[in-house]
Amino acid sequence: MKLGLRNISIGWRVAMALALPGLAMLGFAVWSSATQYRNARESARIRDMVEFATVVNALVHALQTERGLSTAYLTSGNADYAAALTGAQAQTNEVRARFVRALKGLDAARLRSELDMQAELARQVVDRVDVWRGAVAQRSIATDTLIQSYAGVVAHLTRVVQETLVPHDQSNLARMLAAYTRLMQAKEFAGLERAVGVSGFAAAQTPGAEGRRVIELIDRQSMLLEEFRSLAGATVAGSLDRSWSALDSQTLDDLRRAALAGSPSGRPLRGGVKPWLEVTTRRIDALRATEQQVTVDLLAQAQRLEAQAFRDAWWIIGLTIATLLASLLVAAVLARDIIHPLERITQALRQLASHQQINDLVDDGRRDEIGDMVRAIKVFKHDLTRAVQAEAELKGATLLRQKERYQRALLDSFPFEVWLKDTEGRFLAVNQALAHARGGQTPDALVGMTEFDLLDYSMASTLREEDLAVMQAGVRKLTERSCASAPGNAPCWVETYRAPVTDDQGALLGTVGFSRDITERYQAQEEIRQLALYDPLTKLPNRRLLSERLNQALASARRDQTHLALIFVDLDKFKPINDSLGHGVGDLLLYAVAQRIQHCVREVDTAARLGGDEFVVLLPTVEASDQAVLVAEKIRHALNQPFELAGGHVVSISSSSGVALYPEHGEDEIALSKAADAAMYRAKALGRDNVQLHQSGMPVSMVPPASVALVAPPPAPSTDPSG
Ligand code: GH3
Ligand code: MG
Repeated sequence: MKLGLRNISIGWRVAMALALPGLAMLGFAVWSSATQYRNARESARIRDMVEFATVVNALVHALQTERGLSTAYLTSGNADYAAALTGAQAQTNEVRARFVRALKGLDAARLRSELDMQAELARQVVDRVDVWRGAVAQRSIATDTLIQSYAGVVAHLTRVVQETLVPHDQSNLARMLAAYTRLMQAKEFAGLERAVGVSGFAAAQTPGAEGRRVIELIDRQSMLLEEFRSLAGATVAGSLDRSWSALDSQTLDDLRRAALAGSPSGRPLRGGVKPWLEVTTRRIDALRATEQQVTVDLLAQAQRLEAQAFRDAWWIIGLTIATLLASLLVAAVLARDIIHPLERITQALRQLASHQQINDLVDDGRRDEIGDMVRAIKVFKHDLTRAVQAEAELKGATLLRQKERYQRALLDSFPFEVWLKDTEGRFLAVNQALAHARGGQTPDALVGMTEFDLLDYSMASTLREEDLAVMQAGVRKLTERSCASAPGNAPCWVETYRAPVTDDQGALLGTVGFSRDITERYQAQEEIRQLALYDPLTKLPNRRLLSERLNQALASARRDQTHLALIFVDLDKFKPINDSLGHGVGDLLLYAVAQRIQHCVREVDTAARLGGDEFVVLLPTVEASDQAVLVAEKIRHALNQPFELAGGHVVSISSSSGVALYPEHGEDEIALSKAADAAMYRAKALGRDNVQLHQSGMPVSMVPPASVALVAPPPAPSTDPSG
């Protein structure tokens, strides 16, 4: 039950809590309304009964009048009262007819079964009046019998009224009903007194029995009227007394006394029937008037009670509905005031759980439990925000540490020096290789230092200038330089890369760079260069390098208007040495020849090997042809000296040289080469072992041109081993 309730929304629970008292209130209202409705019905019933009793009472009154006049008619001995009696009988008939109609219309079930029975009996008895009327007309009925007969009918009708007006639980109404019956009975006794008195006055003697009867009737009247006064209350009783006082009481008292005293003379009593009848009838009429007033009061009271009961019923229903609606309204407002904040709180907690920005918590000013809850949530939100921030910071710090580790690993993975510097040249990060090169410290120990803290001033200044140049230019730069190696050590080479570092806005942050040893690469390049430009056997410049240098020298000579010389040197009879001593010895000889030619020339001169046993010497600046011829002679002489080669071979050889000068013998490479070549052939032709200066008109070989620019060496002019 408890758990089941928890699964129902608060609004429904409040509605359920209201349902029980609401239903009880509704039940109470229905019950109260039903009671009031019953009261109204009861009041309506009383009203009907009073109306019926009024009809019955009217019949009683008519019968009483008829009885009095019938007695007067019978006792008067003449037709004095015939007309009045006929009128009274007609009145009785009319009222009787109303009585019968009222009986038919009587809803016995709604009234009382007992009443129904009594009423039916009264109707039968009332019909007997016609028999008595016949007897009166023929004067065949004694007045006493007549009075008793009418009294019997009146007694029946009085019982009907008594049955009708049963005591009611409304005390005031009950009292009035009781007063009404007392008055009715008193009036009947007054009627009987009137009838008996008529009879007595008519007899003109003192009828002892009637006298006693009248006294009894007067006593009964007094007693009943006394009861009536006490039951009806001061207002109604006062009204009776007022009409009572208007009557001629003295005359009545005199007549009563006369009637009781009788007539000793046997003559009719003073005053006779007529005055008695008049006085008593006025008295009865006064009672009747009071009776009618009571009836009117009763009806008014019953109607008032009925209206009051209906009004009360409607008030109860209206008030109940209004109270229920008000309760529902108050409950709805209360529930809304709880449910809406709870919904907002739930929403806020959901947003907190999904790390969203939560809406403003508006209920924190409340002083109830919801206010406490909202304030607690605010504290929770604040703590949670701090926790999330702390977590983010921790995560950030962890990520930063990881990032630093990655960077460290990346930096240390380079086998050469890598660094990051700020604009002032302070190291921000360096790798192991750099730390090692700067004295074996840890990379972190170098952070914050500059090159000036680690290197000599001159070197540090150079590096700083290079850094500044890169930062100022804003472009990356790659430089190569030789290492400052100790004397005697093999030369080394270093390549350094520098790049400026800027932030997102382009502001300069510093430099990044690396430096690595490129000696091996440099050497490899050098080797390639050697292979391309030098003769691998003699290490002398080859034809290509000679061609470059010759063109450079030609350009300089042309610009400076100086002279240069080109000397073609070819060994004589080299092939037989090859053939006799072997190709290896030939190579050794070629190498030795190259060395001797090299020693014969200056630093600025170039000794090259074109191929085979053919060498070329370039003298970039000569004063005159003699100077060139002198150098050629010097070479010829040097080569004439015996060569002591490895393996114990001593070889002697000679050479033939041709000399050509710029601009005398040729102004470009081809012309000059052809000229020198022609001179060299001339020397061969003249018996070898001599030097020939190019002569104008000297035949120049047509095929192939003996130019240094040619890759293939020119064919030997003669294969004659003797020359
Ligand atoms: P000449 O006096 O006419 O010059 O006669 P020569 O024997 O020297 O003949 P020539 O100059 O025409 O031939 C040069 C020879 O040099 C031909 C070739 O066998 C030899 N030779 C060419 N290149 C090399 C080399 O690299 N090493 C050796 N050992 N011999 C070479
Ligand atoms: Mg030769």
